[in-house]
Amino acid sequence: MEIHSLVAGIANTFLLDEGRGVVVIDAGIPHQARRILSRVRALGRSPREVRLIIVTHGHIDHAGSAAALRRLTGAPIAMHRADAPLVATPQLQVPPGRDAATDALARLLRRLGWLVPLETFSPDVWLEEGQSLREFGVAGRVVHTPGHTDGSISVALDDGALFVGDAILNLARVSFPLFWQDPATARASALKIQALQPRCVYPAHGRAFTPAQLDAFIARVARNGGSPRR
Ligand SMILES: [Zn+2]
Ligand SMILES: [Zn+2]
Repeated sequence: MEIHSLVAGIANTFLLDEGRGVVVIDAGIPHQARRILSRVRALGRSPREVRLIIVTHGHIDHAGSAAALRRLTGAPIAMHRADAPLVATPQLQVPPGRDAATDALARLLRRLGWLVPLETFSPDVWLEEGQSLREFGVAGRVVHTPGHTDGSISVALDDGALFVGDAILNLARVSFPLFWQDPATARASALKIQALQPRCVYPAHGRAFTPAQLDAFIARVARNGGSPRR
């Protein structure tokens, strides 16, 4: 399995090339479908060889081009049922911030959200905890990692690569997401991710990181009594 990536607006889009086709993890902001497809073609693949579009959660920077990509490829869209309401409305959805500054930013984004409406869609495949992705050619499974949103999922490949969406970021450093629906659940998901003992963690925002960086982040959170800061 080859892992390729591009930044489709704000978040990373990952392309898993598994020999018989390509599985897309996250579909970027709106108007990124053709860019994603040109990357697919650069791998020597045709749009029809895209087998599945996995959306790690329903935010616009991950789901924004999912409907367009489905139209252009014929591939089904897969996500967790708990995030279906997020992609059923064009209105920008931003969870509460994890501190005063990010909460103010969340309020600002909600006010400006009408500028970039989401192209709504109905997913074709529901993903849930433990579900195998083998029927789509991926040697791996779904891990439910809620907290950022209720329906946030990760994708764990059998070879130890783990795609965590927005459950954990690595912008300036490995950290919790800036916004979260439920802090306690997000912390539990971070521990769940650590317990999987991934070989390499691929966040949707920022660069891939090592198990040692993940352990250092969890230790920092534990030292601060579960606080996301410092
Ligand atoms: Zn998000
Ligand atoms: Zn995001």
